[in-house]
Amino acid sequence: MSADCIFCAIVDGEIPGNVVYEDEDVLAFLDANPLAKGHTLVIPKAHHETLGDLPGDLGAAIGRVATELAPAVEAAVDADGTTVAFNNGEAAGQEVPHVHCHVVPRFDGDGYGPIHALFGAGPELDDDEIATIGDAIRDEQ
Ligand code: 5GP
Ligand code: ZN
Repeated sequence: MSADCIFCAIVDGEIPGNVVYEDEDVLAFLDANPLAKGHTLVIPKAHHETLGDLPGDLGAAIGRVATELAPAVEAAVDADGTTVAFNNGEAAGQEVPHVHCHVVPRFDGDGYGPIHALFGAGPELDDDEIATIGDAIRDEQ
């Protein structure tokens, strides 16, 4: 629990949330300013700011709940798909510093495009640069 955290306040029932799933570790509720009808947030009940702070078992629990909720949300609002994503860290646009997975319903022809639309063309990397990055990521684990 973090004193100033809006999502901790929802977990504790201090402020209302339209809860659609709850277990011992995970809560899911409707976003107050939805990007689409049915926009749902899946959070760990414990306060962790970013994915890097999250114990692996909680990450797995979030992934399982998001996986199970996505088709339920789609069915509930008659969506054709979902974009499921984390804004992980301030640089990625995370505004609420309590890990949350967005499950955003998508509709044929809604025009928002894939996650790739965020990034445009991206950097041009040659094979050596890609290999070096792969080595660095393997070394960090
Ligand atoms: P972020 O930009 O941090 O990834 O997303 C935070 C999300 O939390 C936003 O989509 C925002 O609409 C939602 N949100 C912020 N405050 C509240 C709140 O008090 N209640 C609910 N249900 N959602 C909130
Ligand atoms: Zn919190």
